[in-house]
Amino acid sequence: MSIQENIQNLHEQLPENVTLIAVSKTKPVEALKEAYQAGQRHFGENKIQEMSDKYAVLPKDILWHMIGHVQTNKVKYMAEFVHLIHGVDSLRLLQEINKQAARYNRVIHCLLQKDIADEETKFGLNADEITAILTHQIQALPNVKVVGLMGMATFTDDQAQIRQEFATLKATFNQMQIIHPDLQILSMGMSGDYQIAIEEGSTMVRIGSAIFGERNYNPA
Ligand SMILES: *Cc1c(COP(=O)(O)O)cnc(C)c1O
Repeated sequence: MSIQENIQNLHEQLPENVTLIAVSKTKPVEALKEAYQAGQRHFGENKIQEMSDKYAVLPKDILWHMIGHVQTNKVKYMAEFVHLIHGVDSLRLLQEINKQAARYNRVIHCLLQKDIADEETKFGLNADEITAILTHQIQALPNVKVVGLMGMATFTDDQAQIRQEFATLKATFNQMQIIHPDLQILSMGMSGDYQIAIEEGSTMVRIGSAIFGERNYNPA
């Protein structure tokens, strides 16, 4: 199926309150153009350099989501245009985003990444760290706005475990919303697990291979 058909099929499946992020990492600009022509405007990338290169040549009404792990020293390269940073996993990073956003007179929207997976390799904050940021640390950072949480489930075939991890994140989200009503976005779900994520309360799914096909990280 074509990129356009994949996007249309997804839009038919997704509830109205769920935003589709087309994860275009490693894919050529032509593939993004095809998605754009199908009406897609939210795109997700996991490398700042690649996102900037694509931003430079594609239409300016695209909303760019940084979904990968962000190195503090690279925030400056996306501060001018990034729409939403999903993977904020430290106060230090939030402080740097605030500083770079101020240079452009912007308020950059961010999601705090919570570590929900049963894997050492996943990044993220724990519930206490999220609480500390939302209750007081955020007050010193006028150029960032924390608008939600993001999480990645363990890479496993165990559907019950994935569901449990998403449910845990949703419970944290509900709790944090009480102290920080700006939280409106719950970014969880990828090609393999977005249906479960939606059932557990996701409002934003990040889908790559189910739109663009498998990724080839080592093109010949
Ligand atoms: C690559 C990536 C995705 C998309 O993965 P697919 O399985 O191709 O849908 C979603 N979220 C993050 C953080 C990613 O790095």
